Amino acid sequence: MNIQEVLRGFSIDENVVARILNALDSEKRLVMIRAPAGSGKTTIVLCRAVELAQRGLRTGVFFRTISQVDYALGLIRRILRISNVSVKVVPVVGKVRLCLNPPPDSDPFPKWCDYSKCPLRSRRKRVREFPSVPESLEQLMNIGRSNGVCPYYLSLSEAEKADIVIATQAFFINDKLMEMLGKLDIAVVDEAHGLMHLITEISEEEYRRGRELSSMRLEDMSIEDAGILSRYEDYVDTDGDEVVLRGEGKRLKVVPPIRLIRKRLESVKKIILVSATIYPTGLFGLLFARGIDAEIEVIPGLIRETEKRKILGVVVEDLSSKRELRTPRQYDRYAYVIRKLIERIGKPALILAPGYEFAQELSKRLGFPVCRDPREARGDAVIGVLRGRFSEGIEVDLGAPLRLLVITGLPYRPRSPEFLSMVKVYAREYGVDFYELARAIEESDMISALIQALGRVGRREKGVGVILDSRIRKKNFGMKLVII
Ligand code: SF4
Repeated sequence: MNIQEVLRGFSIDENVVARILNALDSEKRLVMIRAPAGSGKTTIVLCRAVELAQRGLRTGVFFRTISQVDYALGLIRRILRISNVSVKVVPVVGKVRLCLNPPPDSDPFPKWCDYSKCPLRSRRKRVREFPSVPESLEQLMNIGRSNGVCPYYLSLSEAEKADIVIATQAFFINDKLMEMLGKLDIAVVDEAHGLMHLITEISEEEYRRGRELSSMRLEDMSIEDAGILSRYEDYVDTDGDEVVLRGEGKRLKVVPPIRLIRKRLESVKKIILVSATIYPTGLFGLLFARGIDAEIEVIPGLIRETEKRKILGVVVEDLSSKRELRTPRQYDRYAYVIRKLIERIGKPALILAPGYEFAQELSKRLGFPVCRDPREARGDAVIGVLRGRFSEGIEVDLGAPLRLLVITGLPYRPRSPEFLSMVKVYAREYGVDFYELARAIEESDMISALIQALGRVGRREKGVGVILDSRIRKKNFGMKLVII
């Protein structure tokens, strides 16, 4: 297979193709690649996985969300059509997506199959007509239904024979899940910044109850208790430094990313971390590659405009979402500027606020509804929250594709006790200053959220993304600034 020729069918910038392929060819066992969203990095990596499969090497590609697993299946089918190559690809995601007999009012939990005595537990046989590359997770469900087999266990048993496994990041993070995929040669983690916060938590109440339940028989428990026992066992089995947050009534286990990377390098030949937001590069080098000779490739363009997406930073003096500035007058000023932007640029418009309280204040002044779920959105202007469901990788369509997206503030996370505990563990592990590390992680997190939110506009039709916070002036994002 001629990888460059296949990639020509995807109209990806040849310079990006050359640089990413070059990084992937590195002799080093850890490769980190940052390339802007929409630059074609996932396609290039999947193409390389197909090429490696022809050489007998097994690759696992780990995505952040289930919808990205579905999307990758479509991409890989296209690659195989263009290249006329045949390899076996199996998607693997959790029971929450693939269970055919879930609990009536909740998601399935690890012990659910045994607790419910699901008849499909023992039907983990292989099916004859399993496609070499399933079209989608829905097709996997249908194969399970028509053969009376559990799709979750079916996908795991097929994964062992696959050349390429497409899974969610949970399979990379969790030792037991990773083992179920069989021996992999290469592990690729897409949107690898998702591995920056490796925290597992449980409430003190569930922890105590789970410990009591661990000596009881599963069949004597209520469904609620079986769920608690599952979460307790999951927590106990998780590696990591434990932190007890007495004031919050919960406990956490924190894993510094370097420990996970080192552990995975014991079983795979090479790890490739890919992200649009590996920033600042030094922070990621520290968190993921400290003491490891890694290849780091950075394709310029962190927050970049495309043919369809214009990006503007609008600076109005002291107009910022900083907590100490959140007064009624400040919300009035925000509403005023948003109205002006809509007059100039038009609708449909999506306003993303840094939190629900902020969103409600804007809603009172602008008269647009606050929506938590894009499916509930009505009208041609709505308000959502940053990092919420509007910010995820979905197409926002308010009757027509978005014309305007306004981000009303830089999306810094609050310094929660969980965040501070995580940074304390990391600072100890890496031997660095706590405050500097906290600031660097906050900044990196904020930029990730910003890039993700900006991805909502200019997908199919032309649109404008506006960041409305005076702090943008001091950031070196390379975007056009309008100072009012
Ligand atoms: S065996 Fe499969 S279908 Fe049955 S409960 Fe478990 S995950 Fe669901």
